[in-house]
Amino acid sequence: MNTSNRVHPLRSQAKVLLSSVFGPYAQDDEYGSRKINPMELYHNQVTRVQGPFSLRMFHRSFGLMLLQENMDAPCTLLDFPTLDRFTNEIQSHSYDIIGISSIIPNVGKVKKMCEMARKYLPNATIVVGGHIASMPDLHNIIDADYIVKGDGVSWFRRFLGQDENAPVRHPIVLSGFGGRILGVPLSRRNTAAILMPSVGCPVGCNFCSTSTLFGGKGKFINFYKTGDSLFSVMCQIEKSLKVRSFFVLDENFLLHQKRALRLLELMEQHNKSWSLYIFSSAQALKLYTTEQLVRLGISWVWMGLEGENSQYAKLKGIDTHSFVRDLQSHGIRVMGSTIIGLENHTPKNIDQVIDWAISHNTDFHQFMLYIPIPGTALYEQLLKEESILSEEECPIADIHGQYCFNYHHKHICEGQETEFLLRAFHRDFEINGPSIARMIRTMLRGWKRYKNHPNPCIRKRFEWGFKKSSVYYAGAVWAMKKWYRKNGPMLEKATSLLQDLYGELGWKARTMVSLLGRVMYFTMKREAEKLANGWVYEPSTIYEKNAKALKQ
Ligand code: SF4
Repeated sequence: MNTSNRVHPLRSQAKVLLSSVFGPYAQDDEYGSRKINPMELYHNQVTRVQGPFSLRMFHRSFGLMLLQENMDAPCTLLDFPTLDRFTNEIQSHSYDIIGISSIIPNVGKVKKMCEMARKYLPNATIVVGGHIASMPDLHNIIDADYIVKGDGVSWFRRFLGQDENAPVRHPIVLSGFGGRILGVPLSRRNTAAILMPSVGCPVGCNFCSTSTLFGGKGKFINFYKTGDSLFSVMCQIEKSLKVRSFFVLDENFLLHQKRALRLLELMEQHNKSWSLYIFSSAQALKLYTTEQLVRLGISWVWMGLEGENSQYAKLKGIDTHSFVRDLQSHGIRVMGSTIIGLENHTPKNIDQVIDWAISHNTDFHQFMLYIPIPGTALYEQLLKEESILSEEECPIADIHGQYCFNYHHKHICEGQETEFLLRAFHRDFEINGPSIARMIRTMLRGWKRYKNHPNPCIRKRFEWGFKKSSVYYAGAVWAMKKWYRKNGPMLEKATSLLQDLYGELGWKARTMVSLLGRVMYFTMKREAEKLANGWVYEPSTIYEKNAKALKQ
């Protein structure tokens, strides 16, 4: 196994297969799939207890897509294969390089895929990357030729004899597929495109595996350094996919202030009323005025709240409650992210911890266990303290943050954390209600505030983001009202939200609402029954060849 980077003898004539790990994913099996860990980001760790209100959606393996886009070699991409489909591909084609990307819990699948690759294509070079590369003893577990940590684009360019410093080509792809809520498939029209300006986060929180993967504290990799280069790629994506919104896959997009402000300048010069959905620390958001955020089209923020009085510098001196309220009052939806099991959490104070988190009433709320992932400062610390559990005590496939600790917590006995985490999700759902209703409430606030704004870019954004779909939103709330007819507090919330929505609808649209609501109530009931009978969603396999591979 090598970690250094030679050049493949066939250079960019080498035939490459890139693959994600095999499914099905939402089941318990010997390779590391777990029912509790489906291939659906939101349902996995955000809306998991919200039943038919849960946002269901799959996301492509964007890292692999970025690699394929930047290869001059003939390259085939197999996303979400089954083991049979992967095996069939390597039995029936002669690849020179097989690249597999994975997270740590899927190490059993990578091991199996390497075995199959050795069996059917013994001369192929096997390259493994992604978060799994942070596992210190990975080379003893899997049979790969190269384990690549960090920036795979540069690595593959070197390996294929390409110019490592050439501008990065961006894949043109929507951020999600197979979207569904209330039992209704989501329209492609509202799906954002993916945008990857940078990877890594210089803040370097002690538990953060994405920051660690790209160098840790003080480090990041910019694919697009300037606002001009980013604007240019966004224009290309807008034209190809006819989108108006971008899901910005960048750990802390707003930290790069010069780039963001130049992007804002260009957006306004060219009348772009784009919406940006971003990940951001509170500290980075505070570098801007709310007016700048709104002009930049920030419409959705995924923000770490971590926990009351937590040690993290990114939250120092920030009143997160009033900050979240302020963002929402401008129509900016907030996805809060809270950690369960910080050092100071105990069975005695866990209810207070949960109550503090949910009192933010964010539109969505992610809860994750405090997990030391290899490579992070937290992992090193717990390793030194001899607190990390062995594989026998905690299988690798269970270290995904939604089930159990992989270490001895000072105050929380093994097994308690699973219930604490579920308690947090349930409490948030019971008190704050379905995320879809909270999101509609925030968008309505934004619409009321900005519908007559003198800046046409801002006006158009709210028109597109809210007004055009407002009758559907009202239909969803109508269905929700019926759903909660025996739950006083929720019924009150739904009734008041529906009244407010009616205030923004003409009489024609209002007549549509109850009709749509009836249909949605029916689809919700059907969805709830399906889920109660054990139905799970799996992504379909996607097979894509680049232009050079298509010619062969
Ligand atoms: S601010 Fe967020 S992305 Fe950055 S290191 Fe901390 S947790 Fe990771």
